[in-house]
Amino acid sequence: MSEQFNMPPPAPPTAPGAPAPSARGPAEQRVSLLAADRACTRCAFNLVGQSIVRESHYGLLIIRCPECGTVASLQEYPLLGRWANRWAALLAGLWFLVITAGTLAVAGVITGFTFGVSQSAAERVVETIKSAYIAHETARGTDPNAINWWWITDPTWWPAQDKRKIIADAGGWFGAIRWRAFAIWLAGGTVLFTFAAAWAVLMSHRRGVRLVLTTLPMILFAMLFWALSQTGGSTFSSVYDLAAGMLWPVVLPMSLACAAVSLCAGVLLGRPLARIVVRAALPPRLRVPLGWLWTCDGLAPPKPI
Ligand SMILES: [Zn+2]
Repeated sequence: MSEQFNMPPPAPPTAPGAPAPSARGPAEQRVSLLAADRACTRCAFNLVGQSIVRESHYGLLIIRCPECGTVASLQEYPLLGRWANRWAALLAGLWFLVITAGTLAVAGVITGFTFGVSQSAAERVVETIKSAYIAHETARGTDPNAINWWWITDPTWWPAQDKRKIIADAGGWFGAIRWRAFAIWLAGGTVLFTFAAAWAVLMSHRRGVRLVLTTLPMILFAMLFWALSQTGGSTFSSVYDLAAGMLWPVVLPMSLACAAVSLCAGVLLGRPLARIVVRAALPPRLRVPLGWLWTCDGLAPPKPI
């Protein structure tokens, strides 16, 4: 202990703006100068450049405000050796991993539910493409029982089709899409809301719009995953894939909107919900260590009694 609190060599006796040590008592020792901005808690005077002294009574490091004389206490840097920095670096790396993994996981969930909607919404278009393909094969003289519409094996047929006609035959954009498919987002939205609520607790250093913006990469990665899934170079596409691929201009934006609304609601309600849970589940004393859940939103922390 005594080694950790060894005094640095005495600083030069006169520094700009510093009262002479003798004015504060003979046993008070100047240790250093404050090198960063720090406001006086009473008058908000910037204490940068003031002398840091070791006061005589308790041997604590303090700064005296030259304007109002209020004492600002300082904490001595905990001398944990090199491991303090190593742990800090490790934790920062771990934090980055958790954030990245979380972002990619949510993007994966969004992509998964979008696929679900996409398959389910395309049922009518599947039927339309199927009958068009069967008509084409029948016209070529293929045995109707041998037509395999699971895979469009004729690579010239699909590119030659008029996509607008297929949508029109399926009932137009409004009729072609099975809108009930979006009900999947009730489940997807619940999953995302829960995740976003936990995310907001994790992101306690962000508030408001900045907090909401932390979910933007999730949406962007979901778009990227979707785009990558659509650029497969396969020449054989089942009617299901073809139908789902046609409806993406409606399905993708609507799914991303559902995801965005769920994520926004989750991050904005996450911490208020967490506070309700903490209040309900913990006795007053045990709430105190979780006071940051309040202070991070500018609220008064819970009282211990
Ligand atoms: Zn002051």
